[in-house]
Amino acid sequence: MTLTTRFAPSPTGMLHIGNIRTALHNWMWARKHGGRFLLRIDDTDAARSQSQFVEAIREDLAWLGLAPDDEQRQSDHGDRYERVFERLRDAGRIYPCYETPQELDLKRKVLLGRGLPPIYDRAALDLDDAARRAYRAEGRRPHWRFLLDRDEAIGWSDLIRGEQHFNPAALSDPVIRREDGSWLYLLPSVIDDVDMGITDVMRGEDHVSNTAVQIQMFTALGARPPRFAHEALLVGTEGKLSKRLGSLGIAHFREAGIEPQALVALLARIGTSDPVEPVADPAPLIEAFDFARFGRAPARFDEEELRTLNARIVHLLDYGAVASRLPAEMDRPAWNAVRPNLARVADAADWWQVVAGPVEAEIAEEDRDFLATAAVVAGRIDWQDDPWHALTNALKAETGRKGRALFLPLRLALTGRDHGPDMAALLPLIGRERAIARLTP
Ligand code: GLU
Repeated sequence: MTLTTRFAPSPTGMLHIGNIRTALHNWMWARKHGGRFLLRIDDTDAARSQSQFVEAIREDLAWLGLAPDDEQRQSDHGDRYERVFERLRDAGRIYPCYETPQELDLKRKVLLGRGLPPIYDRAALDLDDAARRAYRAEGRRPHWRFLLDRDEAIGWSDLIRGEQHFNPAALSDPVIRREDGSWLYLLPSVIDDVDMGITDVMRGEDHVSNTAVQIQMFTALGARPPRFAHEALLVGTEGKLSKRLGSLGIAHFREAGIEPQALVALLARIGTSDPVEPVADPAPLIEAFDFARFGRAPARFDEEELRTLNARIVHLLDYGAVASRLPAEMDRPAWNAVRPNLARVADAADWWQVVAGPVEAEIAEEDRDFLATAAVVAGRIDWQDDPWHALTNALKAETGRKGRALFLPLRLALTGRDHGPDMAALLPLIGRERAIARLTP
């Protein structure tokens, strides 16, 4: 069976950094095993799902380079869910319940007050036809629960958490369908996982108790559950998933000049025992990806770490990968010259401006004669090979200046700044004419 994973977002908002990490891991796991990666749009909640979010999810995945092999939408599968529902209901695995939310709340409070776990008491199972009819006559419509088999111990070998055991008697029969006929996520997800041949499910550890009940749903459908990996959640530097972190999406990172490769490199590794490394190509990350490397402690997401990593990745990007985002005249040598100084690709335009000019420099009185000499020397050196070394060597011999006193006034006059890319790489781009003009007092 082909290893198949899925990323299953609900299109009720933009993806945030936590979902993006889940998507990435599902994609990596599939790629590592030569398998398939599906995008499944969990849009059973018609009221909250919006097509603009579906579009945004697709765009975000494309920007990250996580191309799905197929896309499915739960809203296309309503008939299939209905048939399975009828089958499980006829087999007694799904039953109607008529309690109102207030009644359920009261039951929970009573149990908690007695120090007991708030497990649903299955009162609805005792209703006879007459009682059900009476509720319906009152105008009540049923919601539906899945009947857990209390004799079927629940367990799975989680790829991250190891052996997991749940006592079904300690769980409430989960509600799978609302009064208005709409679906909760649990059962449709299992039906799709079976139908789509999903072999591996990676998701956050907030889903562990869902997995426990879903395992029995797989069995009820006569299917073998997939393998599961439940990841420790993502937290910010302050130790929790803050509101801010929960709302950070791709748009934010793009605007901040973060490259998709940087997000991929960071999210592939945080929360694992492998170091975060600047790699512009995901192949080595995929190669080394292994759930055995994941820890149980939350993964810490640090935007500062992302920015630093981003700069290191920008320094690795080839001209071809960025050309469309550079000023039109900027060629490969220019990119290679400024690249080591960039934190973001967009900043290349600033350095290009330094090359193309005009630049403004404040020249100190004591440097004027020196720069006048430099202008003359610049006129007679060979510009073909390495003009910066030719210029500075000649000036050193001629003026006796060295170190900072030699280099800094030149840099200031030539670029208008006291720091920046290697002058040996920059000066050929500035070129003879512009250099002489900038050095001439
Ligand atoms: N739509 C569900 C969610 O976003 C999917 C969970 C899953 O991966 O099964 O939480």
